[in-house]
Amino acid sequence: MQVPFLDLQMQYQQHKHEFDACMQAVLDTSSYIQGPAVGQFERKFGEYLGVNHVAGVANGTDALYLSLRACGIGPGDEVITAANTFLATTEAISATGATIVLVDADPTSYTIDPYLIESAITARTRAILPVHLYGQPAALDPIVAIARKHKLRVIEDACQAHGAWYHGQRVGTVGDIGCFSCYPGKNLGAFGDAGIVVTNDDALNDRIRLLANHGSRTKYVHEIEGWNSRLDSLQAAVLSVKLAQLDKWNARRCQHAERYRELLSGLPIKIPHVVNESHVWHLFVVEAEDRDGLAKHLADNGIATGIHYPLPIHLLPAYAHLAYKRGAFPVSEQAAQKILSLPMFPELTDDLIVNVVDSISEFLAVPRLGCAS
Ligand SMILES: *Cc1c(COP(=O)(O)O)cnc(C)c1O
Repeated sequence: MQVPFLDLQMQYQQHKHEFDACMQAVLDTSSYIQGPAVGQFERKFGEYLGVNHVAGVANGTDALYLSLRACGIGPGDEVITAANTFLATTEAISATGATIVLVDADPTSYTIDPYLIESAITARTRAILPVHLYGQPAALDPIVAIARKHKLRVIEDACQAHGAWYHGQRVGTVGDIGCFSCYPGKNLGAFGDAGIVVTNDDALNDRIRLLANHGSRTKYVHEIEGWNSRLDSLQAAVLSVKLAQLDKWNARRCQHAERYRELLSGLPIKIPHVVNESHVWHLFVVEAEDRDGLAKHLADNGIATGIHYPLPIHLLPAYAHLAYKRGAFPVSEQAAQKILSLPMFPELTDDLIVNVVDSISEFLAVPRLGCAS
């Protein structure tokens, strides 16, 4: 039995008629950039999140970069984020000219440890950039409280957490700005690159829109130098179709996660926990002592896995210049050696999950589910 890590083809086939029709409608108008499909999606996503402003951009990396710039962050400023994130988070900080300041993760949630943030704040700190890693909301209440106290911005990297809730609000809407990636494999994924910035702040929204469109409100009248980062109409149309399914798909991910947790409990493996009430399971990440051995065993049995991410930010070659030492962020470093992401996507079936767990049990030399007791 082959178990893919995720299967984008199934989702396309299930809603093929709607996808084909919505893309054909864009082709029929030939309005590819800033066409009506973009505004329609922005309105729908705003209603879904309960947020005043939504700006479609080219990708999640740009969403972060433009948000930081909209907050006026640049050279000489510092931005605090987690040591265990995808490179795009820190890349966006560097792209503004600001300095990356890393903080370790909490070992249970894998999100930034709020109790370590204050000691990383200096006179140059301008923003905190929490990442809702794997689909789990970061501890936003303490983060927002620290930010208020020190007059810092909070920019949420919600690229892995579309639709997750934090104390009654959707993530992305709790801080000053929320950033989403709609890379195809994300919980709300386009048929190519796409990104979204959301905010309740009128001035920030205005700035983001200006920056994302070459610094112009009126064509060829450029108030500032901006960037070219727009959500295109084809992707917006696809995202509108997918948005209607997002809660259902996230609910399926939650069911799969519950099933994995139930079947894996009792095995000598660390299973993920829901810390802040809601988790949309972009990834289902376990920790195993012999992670590489387990990954190979699963691969040999036709089961695809991933590692998110094999090196924390400070140990990446790209960041040697930051001069952080090995041992600086022990939680992130130890997790990076043990974490393994198991297959997770809405269309996963119970048979496939049982197959994955049987194979894990076999590797850990415990009785298979079928033969237990
Ligand atoms: C995917 C992702 C991004 C970047 O999004 P792109 O659309 O690929 O540019 C940023 N941060 C995190 C945590 C991500 O997972």
